[in-house]
Amino acid sequence: MRFPTLPNLIRTFTLTNITTATFRNPAAALHRAPLALTRGTNPTTLFRSMPTIPFLASFFSSQPKDMTDYPVRKSEDEWQAVLSPEQFRVIREKGTEAPYTGEYDKHMPSAGTYECAACHAPLYRATHKFKSGCGWPAYFDSLPGAVTRHTDSTLGMARTEITCSRCGGHLGHVFKGEGYPTPTDERHCVNSVSLKFAKEEDGEGK
Ligand SMILES: [Zn+2]
Repeated sequence: MRFPTLPNLIRTFTLTNITTATFRNPAAALHRAPLALTRGTNPTTLFRSMPTIPFLASFFSSQPKDMTDYPVRKSEDEWQAVLSPEQFRVIREKGTEAPYTGEYDKHMPSAGTYECAACHAPLYRATHKFKSGCGWPAYFDSLPGAVTRHTDSTLGMARTEITCSRCGGHLGHVFKGEGYPTPTDERHCVNSVSLKFAKEEDGEGK
């Protein structure tokens, strides 16, 4: 585990907030749980059983584990061995690179293919790329079937995450209806670190 203290962090956060609220307004705490408290239940036990803990956990941890059966499968240790630390953080832990810093943000070749940096599956053609000004490489479409969409509910909003269809590696998110003058009015907002550009459009990659 890369975050061994996460459950403790969440528990501490939850209890701290509840404790603070209780001190500020003890009547409110009693109002929320009158039966349990009047019966002498230990408040800590009560709060630990509350459904707010998994709810809060969704803000701290990455999304639920993707159980899709991808053609390329490796353990997280195996991925860590073949990816750079930054690639692992973005591709396997669904991180995001800082805007305007990626190798391919302003990369506008006339031909070639952007492959998955983890498994080399061809994902986007150079001709799919457009200038969005958003700070990350933007594509209006992908190669057929190369990218899989998932609902991402982290950060308190609904977004569409995109992953490599071959290995499940995190690419970024897709946004629709923003008004860009492209054939699809979609923007695949992809982390440069998730990609590797290949000059030749060689179909199946390497
Ligand atoms: Zn891949």
